[in-house]
Parts: sequence; structure tokens; C-alpha cells
Amino acid sequence: MEINESMVQDIVREVLAKMNISSPSAGMHGVFRTMEEAIDAAEASQRIVRGLSMDQREKIISVIRRKIRENAEIIARMGVDETGMGNVGDKILKHHLVADKVPGTEDIRTEAYSGDRGLTLVEMGPFGVIGAITPCTNPSETVLCNTIGMVAGGNTVVFNPHPQAIKTSIFTVNMVNEASLEAGGPDNIACTVEKPTLETSGIMMKSPKIPLLVATGGPGVVTAVLSSGKKGIGAGAGNPPALVDETADIRKAAQDIVNGCTFDNNLPCIAEKEIVAVDSIADELMNCMISEQGCYLASKEIQEKLVHTVMDEKGRLNRRCVGRSAKKLLAMVGVEVPDNIRCIVFEGPKEHPLITEELMMPILGMVRVRDFDEALETAVWLEHGNRHSAHIHSKNVDRITRYARAMDTAILVKNGPSYSALGFGGESICTFTIASRTGEGLTSAKSFTKARRCVMSDSLCIR
Ligand code: NAD
Repeated sequence: MEINESMVQDIVREVLAKMNISSPSAGMHGVFRTMEEAIDAAEASQRIVRGLSMDQREKIISVIRRKIRENAEIIARMGVDETGMGNVGDKILKHHLVADKVPGTEDIRTEAYSGDRGLTLVEMGPFGVIGAITPCTNPSETVLCNTIGMVAGGNTVVFNPHPQAIKTSIFTVNMVNEASLEAGGPDNIACTVEKPTLETSGIMMKSPKIPLLVATGGPGVVTAVLSSGKKGIGAGAGNPPALVDETADIRKAAQDIVNGCTFDNNLPCIAEKEIVAVDSIADELMNCMISEQGCYLASKEIQEKLVHTVMDEKGRLNRRCVGRSAKKLLAMVGVEVPDNIRCIVFEGPKEHPLITEELMMPILGMVRVRDFDEALETAVWLEHGNRHSAHIHSKNVDRITRYARAMDTAILVKNGPSYSALGFGGESICTFTIASRTGEGLTSAKSFTKARRCVMSDSLCIR
């Protein structure tokens, strides 16, 4: 039987409706009323996972991958329905990316030293139960890529998801536990609570049963985790600039930047948030974006209206605008545009609130600068020291090198859309937890393990 769009929508509505009855966790694996219960269940499960062979862990991960592919559209729709953020097509792609490119046990490697005095191995072992806090912008993607990496490392995980994405997160937690059971593994490899709050995350952060915390979110949660007194992996905010100089292929730069910026309505933290363009090509770049890439040029009046719509008077983001399409955002300020408009563009100073703030919506301000030197300085300023992600369109290798050194970011994409850093149209692995602040960069299984030195003295060197 072929499944069409309306059938998928019916399934999503049915699942969401079921989750509304009395408690959202009814019949769901890994979902508990209290954080204490969730931690205890994950701890019991970790005792089993710790004893599994690498092959058995990999079996669990391969069933998780299969279930992600089978459920990609349902989870994508659920995420959009629940949070109002992003778009279904790109979310489906993101889930396939997780299934295909988040590394499993192959990521964990042993170091060996052998010589006259014997053999020493440095093996990477589990931390135990990991506490993970996840964002509403990529809720299921983060739960899934964290679970794959953490279980590959021999851990189990307790999630405190964003409350605005709790149903999607619960659905995903249940799915990975079903995968584990199907593969002959234990239940509760991933656990969560029905109603995540700051209090439940506080319990998680303080629990002596949790040695490692992983925060994916804005500056508040990263600071909270890093102040916990435990080891923390902090995947925080970004505001990635895209620098374009006069040596770039301008038409391609326009296409790459708009593609990257509009992917899932600009929700990924790595996505282009503003442009810094050298004066001599700035007009051409803007024209290409408007005439060839479906961009709407916002007048000063519309920019002003957008500022007052997407932010409050204290500069805080209006959650009802985050991850919305350009068409929806424009409708909010009284402008009707056709469906092919996918991004809002304008030129402004670097201090413009729609340029300095990390908006996570398809609004792309362009700052015009004299030359490359000024572009470099401006891009560093706009990234706010997050050291998260930066992008450049240039054919001059020396400039690219200077930019890479000056930005000092976990991710730097040259001559391509930002999402190529997630392995989408680019080489290497995928993750939705990019730890710039604590230095792991793109996290994967090895980030969730600890080194253990195992020494055999004066034997087993057979050279
Ligand atoms: P958010 O910071 O509002 O929430 C993230 C999570 O942290 C949620 O679960 C929330 O409940 C929790 N939280 C927030 N403040 C907390 C505190 N003081 N103590 C404990 N928990 C707290 O972010 P969001 O809106 O869900 O996501 C968007 C933000 O996350 C953006 O800044 C984006 O750049 C960032 N992000 C970063 C990455 C990355 O890999 N670096 C990935 C996705 C999102």
C-alpha cells in the first residue's frame, strides 16, 4: 500500500491525540513521571549496555537507523506540528542525514603503544548515564543523534527535552527503546520525563548517578551545565556570517547562501545568519539573490515592522516567529508574497538588530564593507566570540586561511551552503550537537567516552 501525504498527516494527528489522553507517556518506553525514576531506569539499562559486545551495540544502532528512515516523515510532521518551527521537507532530509551519517561504534578507536617495555592500550570506555538537554529547534534530530553516539560509546542517556517539543521528543525516545528491544537489547537506553521543567533539569544536573552532561541550546543552558561541577559538553548559540569577496563566483555564492539560510527555515545553528559583502560585488550579489534565488527585498519600513514583530522591546526573540517561512513572516507584517519567496533580504549596518541577533528565521541582512580586511573584522564582530560557525565565498586561498584563523570556529564552510558541514552535500559525519564552547566540535560517539590506559609491562610486544 502506498502511503500518501494525507495518510501521514492522519497518523501524526492520531499519535498526537493519543499522547494527549491523560498522560503523554501512556504506553511509551523510556518515559517516566519523575526525573529520579528516569535516571534509575537509565542506570539499570546502562549496566546491561556496558556488558554488550560492540557488535550488539551496533545491532541496536542499525535498528535505530532503520526506524528513523521508516518514520522520518511522521517525526518531521510531528516536530513541525508541535513546535510550529521548520518545514517538513527539510526535516525529513535531516532525519535521513542522522540515519545515514551519524557515526556508530566505528567512531571509537583504540590507541596502542608497543616497545621494549611492553604494550599499552588506550581504550575509550563509557561514562555511564549521560544527562542531555535538547532544544526545540531540532528536537528529534538531537535526541536521535545523541542516542546513537552515546549508546555506541556504551552509555545510556536521560533527556530533559525542551517543553515545547515534548511530544516529538517522547515519540523519539520511545522509538529508540523499541529499536533496542527489537535488536535484543535492553529497554530504557534513552529515558525522559513526561513534563520536563527547569526543576527536572536541576535534579538531573545534581544527580550523583550522572557523570556527564551534554547541553544543546542557547547560552543559558550551556552556562548552567558548565556551572554544575560536572564534566559538561556545551553546544551553544551561533550567529554565522557568510563573507563574500570579489574573487567569488557571485551567482553560486547567492545560491549557496540562500539555500543554506533557508534550510529548515534557518533553524540549524550553523545556518547563514547574515552576509558580509565587499562593496565591488555587493550589488551583484543582492541582485542575484532577488532575481534568481527567490528573495524579497525588505524596505526600511518593512525592516522596522519586522524588528518589532520578531523581537520584543528588550530584544528577546518572539518564539512565534522562530523557524517560520519568509512568507509567514512577511504576512505577519502585512505583506503578501507568492510561495516562491523563500528569504527576506536587505542591506544594513552591522549593528542592525536583524543582523546582530541570532534570529533562526530566513531573514538575511547584508553588511557592505570596503574590502576584505574590513569584511574580516566585521565578520569576527558579528560572530560575537561564539566560535561556532562561519562561511566564506572566495577563490583566494590566502584570504580563506586568514578568515579561518580569525574566526576560529568549530565549523567553516568554503564556497558551499552551510549544511554541507552536516554532511549534506559535503563529506564527513553528521551531528546536531556542535560543541564549540567546550571544544569537541561536531560531537560523535568518541565525545561521549573516556580514556582508559591499560598497560602490560615487559610483555606482548612482538616486534
Ligand atoms: P534554549 O536555550 O531556549 O533551550 C534549549 C534547552 O535548554 C531546552 O531544553 C530548555 O528547556 C533548556 N534550558 C534553557 N535554559 C536553561 C537553564 N537555565 N537551565 C536548564 N535548562 C535550560 O534554546 P532553543 O530555543 O531550544 O534552541 C535554540 C538555541 O540553541 C540557539 O541559540 C541555537 O544556536 C542553539 N543550538 C545550538 C546547537 C549546537 O549544536 N551548538 C544546536 C541546536 C541549537
